[in-house]
Amino acid sequence: MDIQKTIQSLRNELNQHNHNYYVLDAPVISDYEFDLKLKELQELESNNPEYFDENSPTQRVGGSITKNFSTVAHDHRMYSLDNSYSKEEIIDWEKRIQKVLGDVPLEYTCELKYDGASISITYEDGFLKRAVTRGDGFQGDDVTNNIKTIKSVPLKLKGNFPAKFDIRGEIILPFAGFNKMNQELIEIGETPYANPRNTASGSLKLQDSALVAKRPLDCLLYFLVGSNLPFKSQFEGLETARNWGFKAPKEATLARDLEGVFTFIDYWDIHRHDLPYETDGVVIKVNSFNHQDELGYTAKSPRWAIAYKFKSEQVSTVLNSISYQVGRTGAITPVANLQGVQLAGSVVKRASLHNADQIEKLDIRVNDTVFVEKGGEIIPKIIAVDLSKREADSVPTRYITHCPECDTLLIRNAGEANHYCPNFYGCPPQIIGRIQHFISRKAMDIDGLGQETVALLFINGLINNYADLYELKVEQILPLERMAQKSAENLVAGVQNSKNIPFERVLYALGIRFVGETVAKKLAKHYKDIDALSQATLPNLVLVDEIGERIAQSVIEFFDNIQNRIIIERLKSHEIQLAVIEKINPNATDKLAGKIFVVSGVFEKFSRDDLKKAIEDNGGKVGSSISAKTHYVLAGDNMGPAKLEKASKLNIPIISEVQFMELIN
Ligand code: AMP
Ligand code: ZN
Repeated sequence: MDIQKTIQSLRNELNQHNHNYYVLDAPVISDYEFDLKLKELQELESNNPEYFDENSPTQRVGGSITKNFSTVAHDHRMYSLDNSYSKEEIIDWEKRIQKVLGDVPLEYTCELKYDGASISITYEDGFLKRAVTRGDGFQGDDVTNNIKTIKSVPLKLKGNFPAKFDIRGEIILPFAGFNKMNQELIEIGETPYANPRNTASGSLKLQDSALVAKRPLDCLLYFLVGSNLPFKSQFEGLETARNWGFKAPKEATLARDLEGVFTFIDYWDIHRHDLPYETDGVVIKVNSFNHQDELGYTAKSPRWAIAYKFKSEQVSTVLNSISYQVGRTGAITPVANLQGVQLAGSVVKRASLHNADQIEKLDIRVNDTVFVEKGGEIIPKIIAVDLSKREADSVPTRYITHCPECDTLLIRNAGEANHYCPNFYGCPPQIIGRIQHFISRKAMDIDGLGQETVALLFINGLINNYADLYELKVEQILPLERMAQKSAENLVAGVQNSKNIPFERVLYALGIRFVGETVAKKLAKHYKDIDALSQATLPNLVLVDEIGERIAQSVIEFFDNIQNRIIIERLKSHEIQLAVIEKINPNATDKLAGKIFVVSGVFEKFSRDDLKKAIEDNGGKVGSSISAKTHYVLAGDNMGPAKLEKASKLNIPIISEVQFMELIN
C-alpha cells in the first residue's frame, strides 16, 4: 500500500515538473534532480509491475513499436478552415455572418495559425486516452504512443474537467530543435530535412516511439470539443485548457471588433519572425459558442472561423550561376548564386538547391528569374522559376559529373539524395574538413588550434590527415602567417592534451560517414576497442542498437581502406584512446574521505554515473540535494539556476569536472 502511494506521489510530482518545464517554461528543479526522481520511479515500477500505468511519466521515453497504425473514427469531425488573403475578405466574412446573426455585437478570438500537423486528443476521466491524426477529417491514424512522448502534452489533467472530451491542436517542431537536428545530420554526411512542418508530420508516423521521444516536438492546443464543456466561448476555452494543464499559446487575444482583429494581424505579420516556431497566418474565430452554433458549418469548414494567410515574403531575382560545394564527407551540395536582393531584412545572395533532384524538379537554369523565400531554415530557398521570363535559348542545367575540387568521377548510391566524391584522401576540402571535424569541440576538442589554422597547415604541406597533428613541432609551425612562439606552443600542447579524450569521442572524431555522436557512443560501448570494431562484420554490426545496414556498410568501408588502417595505427602509437577505459580512477583511494558531493548538470568528458562512481571509489559520498553539509558541487553545463543560487548562498565551492580530476589525481 505504501509503495503504491509513493509511486503515485512521484508520478504527480514528475507530471508537475514536466508541466513547469515544457508548458510554463519555468522549471523549478534541475534536470539532474528530475532524472533522479524519474529513475526512482522507474525502479519502483519495475519492481512492482502490478502498479503499471500507461500514463505514468516513465512511459514518455517511448519504446513501443507500431507496425500499422489503426484507423479510428473521430467522434467529432475535424474540419478545414476557409482561407483569406486580405482584410477586404475578412470584412466580407463579417458581413456574411451578420446576415445570419443580425446586427449583433461580435467578439473574435484571434490566434496564430501554427504550421505543423493537426491532432485530436481524447481525454477520459482526466487521462490521455487516444491521439488521432486528422486524416480525411472523418477518420485518422491512432498515434497515441507517439504523442505520449511529447512532454508538453499532459498525460493526466488537473482541476475540474468533464468526464470526456477531445482537444485539438497542432504538432510542431520549433526552429531551434529543427536546426539542431539538421546540423547533426549535416555533420555526419546525411541529407538535412526540408522544413519543420514535414518533419513534424513525418515524426508522427514513425513506427518506433522511442525515436519520436528523441525529436524535440511540441504540441500547441487551440480547441476543445465535447458535450457539457464548462464555458461558453472560444477565449474562455483557451483559458480553461491552460488551467487543466494544456499548452494553449498565450498569444491568443480577444478582439472586440474587426479593428482589433486587424491590429492583431498587423502586429504578428511582423513579429511572427521572433516566434520560436513557424506560423503561416492568423485564425479568427467568432468568440461566442451561441453564435458559433447558429452559424454552423459548410461542407468543409466552420462558418464561424476564417484563416488569414500571411503573404510569404517572396522576391524574385536572377540566378547568376550554380556552384557546387564539397563537404567533409565528400557530399556535394549545389548552391544558387543570385543577384543580391533584399528579403526579410537582409540581402540574399545565395540559396540552397539541396541536390540534383531538386534542380531537376525546379528545372532551374542559369539566367532564369527565380522566386526566393525565407522559411525557418538558415539559408533561403528557391520556390519556383518565373518561366515567363525565360530566354528562348536557355539550356537545361546539367548536374556536374566530376568533383569541382579534384575532378574525380562522382558517385551516387541508390536511395541517396546527394552525389559524393569518393576521393577520400585526395580531395582537399574533404581532407581539411575531416581534420577540422577531428579537432572540433564535440570531438577531440583541441585547444589552441582553430579551423583556419587547419587549412593553413594543410596548404603548407604540414598535415595531410589527423595523425599528422600529433607529429607537429613548434619549429615547423612558427614560420606560418601570424604564428608566434606562444601560439605555436599552445597548439602543440593542445594536440597533446587531446590524448585524454575517451574512445567514444575519438570514434566520432574519425569522421566515418553516418557515424554521429550517438552512433559512436553505441559502437564504443558495444565493441570496447577499435580492433574489435574494425573486424566486425555486417551481420554483427547491425545487431547493435540503432545501427542499420547503411551505417554498418559505411563502418566496414572505412576499415577496409588501407590508408585509414595505417592512420589508426599511427594514432595508436601516439597513445590516443582507442579503447574504452572502464574507470576514471581505477585505484581506489581515500582522497575524498568524508566529503559530500552534489553532482549537477551535463558533463563534457564523463557521464554523471562515471563521476559518481569516481567519488565513491575515492571515499567520498554523493548527496542528492545541496545543504549546509555539502562540501562540493560538481557542476557541468546546464546546472539549474536554483541550485547555483543555493550553492553560492551556502558558500559551497562549485567545481568543474577538470578540477574534480585534479582533486583525485
Ligand atoms: P488548412 O490546412 O489550410 O485547411 O488549415 C486548417 C488547419 O489549420 C487546421 O486543420 C489546423 O490543423 C491548423 N491550425 C493551426 N493553428 C490553428 C488554430 N489556432 N486554430 C485552428 N486551426 C489551426
Ligand atoms: Zn573531390
